[in-house]
Amino acid sequence: MSVQQLRINQERLWQSLMELAQIGATEKGGVKRLALTDLDKQGRDLVVSWGRAAGLSITIDQIGNVFMRRAGRNPALPPVMSGSHIDTQPTGGKFDGNYGVLAALEVIRTLNEHQIETEAPLEVAFWTNEEGSRFVPVMMGSGVFCGAFSLEHAYAATDTAGLSVKDELQRIGYLGDQVPGQHPVGAYFEAHIEQGPVLEDAGKVIGVVPGVLGLSWYDCTVTGMEAHAGPTPMGLRKDALQVATGIMQEVVNIGNRYPPYGRGTVGMVQVFPNSRNVIPGEVKFSMDLRNVTAELLDTMHQEILAFIEQRSRETGLKIHAERVSYYPPCPFHPDCVEAVRTATAALGYSTMDVVSGAGHDAIYTARLAPSGMIFVPCKDGISHNEIEDAQPAHLAAGCNVLLHAMLASAGVVQD
Ligand SMILES: [Zn+2]
Repeated sequence: MSVQQLRINQERLWQSLMELAQIGATEKGGVKRLALTDLDKQGRDLVVSWGRAAGLSITIDQIGNVFMRRAGRNPALPPVMSGSHIDTQPTGGKFDGNYGVLAALEVIRTLNEHQIETEAPLEVAFWTNEEGSRFVPVMMGSGVFCGAFSLEHAYAATDTAGLSVKDELQRIGYLGDQVPGQHPVGAYFEAHIEQGPVLEDAGKVIGVVPGVLGLSWYDCTVTGMEAHAGPTPMGLRKDALQVATGIMQEVVNIGNRYPPYGRGTVGMVQVFPNSRNVIPGEVKFSMDLRNVTAELLDTMHQEILAFIEQRSRETGLKIHAERVSYYPPCPFHPDCVEAVRTATAALGYSTMDVVSGAGHDAIYTARLAPSGMIFVPCKDGISHNEIEDAQPAHLAAGCNVLLHAMLASAGVVQD
């Protein structure tokens, strides 16, 4: 059999996903396996035992990231790595993160089965506390690994019971000794369910991911004057909500103005005093703008600020908008994006480009090494939910793309 004809084992991948999902299984068919709990330890132990059975050597770093290595012909080359996370949300699903780790493991199992050797070593990684539901910040393991924040900062994080990351790592036996980041990476690929509805809606199997949307978050306050809804004529009001709704509509207009990746969302509104016969005197609301390049996101930023200034001038109301968060867009490396695109085309799967609107460990690895992602559809675009679901054939397709992208990146030994 030629390497081009090589395919992963769909049934084996599915069985592994179902077996891992039993650790922390919930009644509604989901998974609750929070980072650094006893259940996380059980999940980690299971994946590590599978890695050992596949002949992989295991390294754990000081933030509990686990690397499982398959030797290459040339040990001097940095490994081609793939993985994700196995911690879940409190009402999480079977596939978010777990799929990326077990797809990478299935790639290794397939290569073992067919005795295919690569030039560069291959590694399966799983990163600590990607979800951030028990400990903040999110994407903790990959964040420390890539220097986004310090090991001490991560260690000091505590859960609501006051237990710290460091103590919990120690307790479950995953406080390793390797210094985070002192682990070379040649390239990083992450397979993941899309967590959005785009692929399913378009009827496509593989999402090639050019990058991750950047975001700008703002808190906005419009200050008017409370007055009685009856005696106050329309022309003599300082209605904060009336002005605020115009701004909220403009947030959505700006999202619409920059397709296909522009996003404009107002998700939180507080009206004071929130009484039916009082003209609102103050409105606080959130604004969330996203796009795929820093230039587009900056244009959207300028436009909303200009609009707010203009409305303040026209109405005489005080409007305060403050940016409270900014994450720049993360374009993935052209070589990795191309490797995914080429593998998808060779395998003949239907495909489209899908940007990621959610955070992933690959955002951080992209700071250290060429990185890329592969998306597969999930039912109704739902994730972070116990009803999260995906089709075995789609998961297998994504895993086949991962296999061939990794082989192209690592180089197959032919002799
Ligand atoms: Zn995830």
